[in-house]
Amino acid sequence: MNFLEEKILTDGVVKEGNVLKVDSFLNHRIDMAVMRGIADHFMRAFSDAGVNKVLTIEASGIAIATLLGHLLDVPVVFAKKSETANCTDDKYVAQAYSFTHRRHNSVFVSRPYLTADDRVLIVDDFLADGQAAHALIDLVRQAGGQVVGIGIAIEKGWQQGGRLLRQEGYRLESVAIVDAMDWRTQTVTFRPRESRD
Ligand code: 5GP
Repeated sequence: MNFLEEKILTDGVVKEGNVLKVDSFLNHRIDMAVMRGIADHFMRAFSDAGVNKVLTIEASGIAIATLLGHLLDVPVVFAKKSETANCTDDKYVAQAYSFTHRRHNSVFVSRPYLTADDRVLIVDDFLADGQAAHALIDLVRQAGGQVVGIGIAIEKGWQQGGRLLRQEGYRLESVAIVDAMDWRTQTVTFRPRESRD
């Protein structure tokens, strides 16, 4: 079991409705040892990918992205959320349904911050249905850049995001993949490293 899986078992809380709450170390209070572990994991996993930009989505991805950007010494961009953003001359806009907030969001990045020269590593805290990841991919595509990898702290393995992204050919690395969880018994089951594709 790796450091993040251990942390989820000790400090994560399974909520009714398919939500894993990790506020005490990732989403509200930030545990720097866990953050460093996640950033180190991605740095090693994508060391040969020629990353020149890290892209995430506000808010929870920003902490992971900044630590990773520091290690890789590349700029970090975070997509902003808005209920009303439209495509304009000055920004790229994509759509994502928010699992946790149960609403459609537009996400956008100002045009100068994503370019055709970019080799982008996308990172986020969770991967569930892949809405956020696909919106970020869409923004990079609009700018003419290339997605060279996707790093996720916690993938919820029974939701479709991971399967879709791998089928689409993206290089996806998740630090922990939760295959099942039960809020009644507070059990969390992880996908073993050897069973991953
Ligand atoms: P997706 O866009 O892949 O459907 O969902 C990923 C996004 O939803 C992440 O950015 C994360 O903020 C949020 N999310 C999805 N599932 C969970 C969960 O179980 N716990 C928490 N804390 N956030 C989640």
